[in-house]
Amino acid sequence: MNDVVIATIQNLLELHQLEEQLDRARTGKAEIQAKINLIREKLIPNILGHHDRMRARGRKSIAPVRNGVCAGCHMVVATGILATLRRQDDIQLCANCGRYLYIDETPPEPPAEAAVPAGEAPPKKARKKRVSKRIPVE
Ligand SMILES: [Zn+2]
Repeated sequence: MNDVVIATIQNLLELHQLEEQLDRARTGKAEIQAKINLIREKLIPNILGHHDRMRARGRKSIAPVRNGVCAGCHMVVATGILATLRRQDDIQLCANCGRYLYIDETPPEPPAEAAVPAGEAPPKKARKKRVSKRIPVE
């Protein structure tokens, strides 16, 4: 096991999440960007470079391996690479699509918290501002 490898995968996953948030966000972009910058500082420059090149092409730079198959391109991952991934010894790229790989053994879960949060009020109707017509008496 190699802590740098684990941290790198974690950071890449987090970076992806934040970048997606940033793409969707209408407000609070500066805060998301600040978090992105923090993670970028932690990543090794050439890994970051690879990530940015993939992102520029509209691709993710990391993909889980499920049942020995790269989830990014659906190609079977070589057993030697799988063994390294299982040991978490080194960063490995998919030979086919070039994404960083990590083993994901957890069964897919239904997306949580996708529903409307409970108790959310329906949108308020726009109300005209009441203008005070009272003239201050001196
Ligand atoms: Zn792939």
